Amino acid sequence: MSGPPFKVRTAWRNHLGNQSIDPLRIYRPRSIDDVVAIVRAAEAAGVRTRAVGSGHSWSDVALTEGFLMRSDLLSRVPAPEPDFLRPAWKGRTLVRAEAGIRLKELNAYLDRNGLGLSQMGGYDHQTVAGVISTSTHGSGIEFGPLNDNAHSLDMVVSGGRVMRVERADGPTDRADYLAHHGERRTLVQDDDVFDAVAVGMGCMGIVCTALIEVRHRFHLREVREMHPWAKVKVDLLDGAVLADNEHYELVFSPYARKHEYPCLVTTRNTVADPTNRMLDKRMRNWLVELGARLPITPRLLNLALHLRPSLAPFLIETAMKALLKDEYDEVSFKVFNIGNANLVPAYSSEIGIPMDGRHIEAVERVFEVADRQRGVGDVYQSSPIALRFVKASSAYASMMHGRDTMMMELIQLRGNEGGYEMLGAYEEALYDLGGRPHWGQVNTLTDSHGLVSSMYPRWADWLRVHRELNATGVFDSPFSKRVGIVQERFTP
Ligand SMILES: Cc1cc2nc3c(=O)[nH]c(=O)nc-3n(C[C@H](O)[C@H](O)[C@H](O)COP(=O)(O)OP(=O)(O)OC[C@H]3O[C@@H](n4cnc5c(N)ncnc54)[C@H](O)[C@@H]3O)c2cc1C
Repeated sequence: MSGPPFKVRTAWRNHLGNQSIDPLRIYRPRSIDDVVAIVRAAEAAGVRTRAVGSGHSWSDVALTEGFLMRSDLLSRVPAPEPDFLRPAWKGRTLVRAEAGIRLKELNAYLDRNGLGLSQMGGYDHQTVAGVISTSTHGSGIEFGPLNDNAHSLDMVVSGGRVMRVERADGPTDRADYLAHHGERRTLVQDDDVFDAVAVGMGCMGIVCTALIEVRHRFHLREVREMHPWAKVKVDLLDGAVLADNEHYELVFSPYARKHEYPCLVTTRNTVADPTNRMLDKRMRNWLVELGARLPITPRLLNLALHLRPSLAPFLIETAMKALLKDEYDEVSFKVFNIGNANLVPAYSSEIGIPMDGRHIEAVERVFEVADRQRGVGDVYQSSPIALRFVKASSAYASMMHGRDTMMMELIQLRGNEGGYEMLGAYEEALYDLGGRPHWGQVNTLTDSHGLVSSMYPRWADWLRVHRELNATGVFDSPFSKRVGIVQERFTP
């Protein structure tokens, strides 16, 4: 059998270019059968394999030295795999998509069909499997990360076994599934296995489809206001801002001006009738959108910061003020997407802090780190810092596992001198407060001294399922070595 076509001697790099690798082969599977053939070919050759989405992770999580599978041709919606829904699931709003479809195309399909994702992060170029695999999230304390909206995953695991993984009360009717697939595929309906594979960082196998719960098309009203940290802190301790708004998030400057740390607070709430709004209310800040699109903008910012680093606090505050907007109404997926700010060449770390008081301490710890880096080394934070609030998830490897979480995103412009070192300093300070780093964003996590297990209380269960689904080690990678997953397989 010849198998699916592939390329050799072709480098792969992520969208920013801060991660790259020369894999042995690059494949572009079109079907589950192609994926099975690639996994088996990798095992037969004694090499590893891993799927990549759209390469929007800044960490090494998507890298493989073996057979790299691009998933852009595995991107149909609805996916061609039948659902075989149990009666209890038939009234729900569900869509099965292939793993490699980007949220952008998924949103367009949903919109055409009068549907919408109930929530998403601030960008839409990532793939369905990519966002699920790293527990990508938005903001809203009643909303978990995106993996929590996926109820059923078709996967290819080691040995080229094909399985559908769901909770015990998951959507698929076993008898119908068996009648259709016979012995060729396995239906696993088990809470423990599902909670382990739900956030798999590419280590559990290749996700081929996901059944996602969506809702009917809806509109959101976004409001942005400036407040000092002193007020935001009181609001967060009180908690009403989180309960009263569907979506609440903020960006802040770590540099005080007149003893106040400025914050730009954004709320988003469902609005019933957005159709009669003036044009201005239906548009984002167009000047900022235009500026962010121009390639010259980040170059000018980097140049300014290089020549006069001490301009950073002024530039951060100016950027926040430029985003001020009393009201903006649009269809949900356009409001969730923060717009052209995503196009500015930047990278970030994001750390999840438990919302038990340590989240407030975390912000103040970051003020101290930023102040120290400035005072000691003339190094500055180059972008506002974002705070988002996410409901606890049951997925064992989600950053939100078992606790409502404040995600703190520490963004740096690509050219900012000392930017990576500054992220390292924040990360260290936030680990001290129970922080867990986003798998897809810059991090220096290792399992030295059992650090990963100490962060994730169900890590041993995640590893047990991993040992079964990755029995041959075919999904091992530089990332899984770094965080101690590979070594664990060799521990008696
Ligand atoms: C501009 C920008 C904005 C962002 N905004 C947010 C945000 O708002 N919220 C947030 O939480 N994060 C955000 N991120 C981080 C991003 O969402 C994650 O890193 C996400 O995992 C990237 O998805 P991707 O499709 O690019 O996957 P990749 O980066 O290509 O891969 C990510 C992981 O998924 C695995 N994977 C991909 N496809 C498959 C598959 N078919 N089967 C099994 N494993 C697979 C890969 O092996 C890898 O481990 C942002 C990143 C960028 C660059």
